[in-house]
Amino acid sequence: MAYAYDDTNIFARILRGEIPNNTVLETGHTLAFRDIAPQAPDHVLVIPKGAYVNFDHFSNAASEAEIVDFYRTAGKVCAMLGIEPGMGGAGYRAITNAGENGVQEVPHYHLHILAGRNLGRMLNRA
Ligand code: 5GP
Repeated sequence: MAYAYDDTNIFARILRGEIPNNTVLETGHTLAFRDIAPQAPDHVLVIPKGAYVNFDHFSNAASEAEIVDFYRTAGKVCAMLGIEPGMGGAGYRAITNAGENGVQEVPHYHLHILAGRNLGRMLNRA
């Protein structure tokens, strides 16, 4: 069974230039931009330019070049924001949601980088 990618999703539209975004960093394979509804003072989304639905799809199907570029870009975003805890920054959270139980809204793989305040515990005991 293969993943079906819906290219009408909002991030696909951003990648096609149909919707503006507040870009933090762009490379050949990756785009990092500010979340439209930030949940912390810094809230950046890192997305691959390729058509991947979520984390496991990207990790299993993307090329090594795409994967390396994605994570290098995410690391550079941390450096640009000055949030690296080993480098004098106050830290951050990098999370990704997948599917129904992960409560993923946009079906294009994205890593949230959240920073700028104490983010509390990772999960509420629902
Ligand atoms: P998810 O729930 O899928 O992990 O996260 C989707 C994220 O995309 C949300 O944090 C939401 O605020 C953000 N988002 C949705 N539409 C747009 C948009 O048009 N532009 C930007 N920059 N972010 C968006």
